[in-house]
Amino acid sequence: MSENSKPEPGFNTSIIHSEYVAPDGFAAFPVGIHHASTVLFNNVKAMRERSWQDKSAYTYGLHGTPTSFTLEARLAEIENGEHCLLTPSGLAAITLVNMAFLQSGDHVLIPDNVYGPSRDQADWLSRSFGVSVRYYDPLIGAGIAALIEENTRLIWVEAPGSVSMEVPDVPAICAAAHARGVLVALDNTWSAGVAFAAFEHGVDIIMQALTKYQSGGSDVLMGAVITRDNALNTRLQMAHMRLGFGVGMDDVYLVLRNLPTLQLRFNAHDQSARKIASWLTNRPEISKVLHPALPDCPGHDIWQRDFSGAGGLFSVLFDAKYGEEQTDRFVDSLKLFKLGYSWGGAHSLCIPYRMQYMRTNWSEPGILVRFNIGLEDTQDLIADIEQALATLT
Ligand SMILES: *Cc1c(COP(=O)(O)O)cnc(C)c1O
Repeated sequence: MSENSKPEPGFNTSIIHSEYVAPDGFAAFPVGIHHASTVLFNNVKAMRERSWQDKSAYTYGLHGTPTSFTLEARLAEIENGEHCLLTPSGLAAITLVNMAFLQSGDHVLIPDNVYGPSRDQADWLSRSFGVSVRYYDPLIGAGIAALIEENTRLIWVEAPGSVSMEVPDVPAICAAAHARGVLVALDNTWSAGVAFAAFEHGVDIIMQALTKYQSGGSDVLMGAVITRDNALNTRLQMAHMRLGFGVGMDDVYLVLRNLPTLQLRFNAHDQSARKIASWLTNRPEISKVLHPALPDCPGHDIWQRDFSGAGGLFSVLFDAKYGEEQTDRFVDSLKLFKLGYSWGGAHSLCIPYRMQYMRTNWSEPGILVRFNIGLEDTQDLIADIEQALATLT
């Protein structure tokens, strides 16, 4: 080492500070998986001038990298929205909306058929955070106007309810809400943004469990909240930052990877599910098939008016002469249909519910069982249901 050359860095320093920079100009279809907590600034001035809310640049991994910005932009495009924020689960997306738009003293209206953990969270908001909660009949339509109070800030809608499948009149609920300056948030998971144009039907805030169709792999938990309005997005951004809702970029990549086939998969689930649901209408063991595209489903006419598809999720009510012992045996006898929560993946699932413990108002006789129709061959799924129905008697 000569006297005027730089001292050689130590081994640890040189393995941390590499001088290699990959060449520019790499082009491929997928966006890179950009992992980061620390994001680098060129100088102090650039650091001070950069805002975490401005998505034209980067500040800290929690607020996004090119990978998550890309997924957010694509999801906003799918829903015909402007802004999107990713959350660590679908339930976290519900939390984000509640925290952004509700505070102590406020009132929120929630459908009686709402996704179970969403209901549990609302009860928690009521018990511990001073928010008053009222559950409404999902088929209430314009009648929601009578339930809106001075302090009502938010109305949740689920279209349709993901267990009992009632299809609400979203435009009527939105019209009543907007007449009183109340926001409407929709859990749009069932239609994946493919079969229901939520903003066009009046919704202000869309929530998605990407865990379902967008992921499509039964291997990711993620959620999204999508808006058109800048002021709503700012409220959501502030809550998102304060809650610290980061997502892992490997998971973001998995969702991005399956997104181009979203509609193809959704339509394949839809076709198969409609065949199976129609077949079930002719079975004596089943009293009602709760599939929005079939007339037995409450709100079927609204589905026909407002929706362009149906996906793979529907439920049935067994004839009231069958007790839980028998319907449990039916579920346990299925071979291709596996027993588990969630849906939207390639594998078919089946799960029984105890509706009397889930609802304020539930008077349908017969036990409810929900099917998620996967991407297996339809005739094999029908044969599986047929052999399991044979165990009932
Ligand atoms: C699954 C689901 C959620 C929650 O999604 P997670 O990612 O499992 O938290 C919310 N709403 C509906 C309708 C769902 O089916």
